[in-house]
Amino acid sequence: MQAFDLSGRVAIVTGGNGGIGLGMAEGLAQAGASVMIAGRDRDKSLHALERLERSGARSGAVEVDVRSVDSIEGMFQATLERFGRVDILVTNAGTNIRKPPQDYTLEEWTDVLDINLRGTFLCAQAAYPHLVRAGGGKIITIGSMTSIFGASFAAPYSASKGGTVQLTKALATAWAKDNIQVNAVLPGWIDTDLTRRARREVAGLEQRVQARTPQGRWGTPADLAGVGVFLASSASDFVTGVAIPVDGGYSAQA
Ligand code: NDP
Repeated sequence: MQAFDLSGRVAIVTGGNGGIGLGMAEGLAQAGASVMIAGRDRDKSLHALERLERSGARSGAVEVDVRSVDSIEGMFQATLERFGRVDILVTNAGTNIRKPPQDYTLEEWTDVLDINLRGTFLCAQAAYPHLVRAGGGKIITIGSMTSIFGASFAAPYSASKGGTVQLTKALATAWAKDNIQVNAVLPGWIDTDLTRRARREVAGLEQRVQARTPQGRWGTPADLAGVGVFLASSASDFVTGVAIPVDGGYSAQA
């Protein structure tokens, strides 16, 4: 269907070298986009790139640390050199440190906020002139169930993901005049490296999530591909400033 066609579009996915980011990158590539995956771990990026290339995607990989303005600038320059333009940004890079709120050091708090919230803002800000030059564009941010619910073991993460949704709305209203749509995706519990660690650290999590999710299972990174294509394509041209849960019904359950 033409509304979902991303041929000729160029996407950057931060944290696109694994997990949800790679699931989204694969979806965008299948819809015809050229995709630049950006992360810190070179080996992971190389593996992800091989996987994308094997499927026939026009793709590249670049090293980035979203805590650094210079590194983010380098990510955009590398994308321009490789593909000549930027139309879509997915600010997916994220991290979590789990413990009771009273036990966080200032450094831990800052690290989570810097990657998840400040990194999202800095990447979006750096994308703006490129999207304007392209005549408009799409920014997809990544929230979480903790954008809606409290998590006793994830105070800075919850603050960052709640903030991400409000940031998304602010950017959407500011940049609507530039034909830039900014929307958030709120994944439920998805099976990735991040949550594999969570399942080791939080007793009973595996079963609790399964029992509470109406669809009765954990999500997979591929479950995020469709919403990524929708929000990156002209199918969503009149959709901006929203936060869409992709959670098997988790947030609809009382
Ligand atoms: P992963 O740990 O698999 O992915 C996180 C990605 O972020 C990695 O690719 C990592 O790349 C990248 N990253 C982390 N720190 C930085 C940094 N400083 N600079 C650049 N890249 C960085 O976990 P998920 O796929 O689960 O997480 C992806 C996003 O989805 C995150 O924002 C997370 O909060 C969110 N999310 C996940 C849920 C889940 O259930 N899995 C639920 C809700 C939200 P590298 O390894 O190269 O550093």
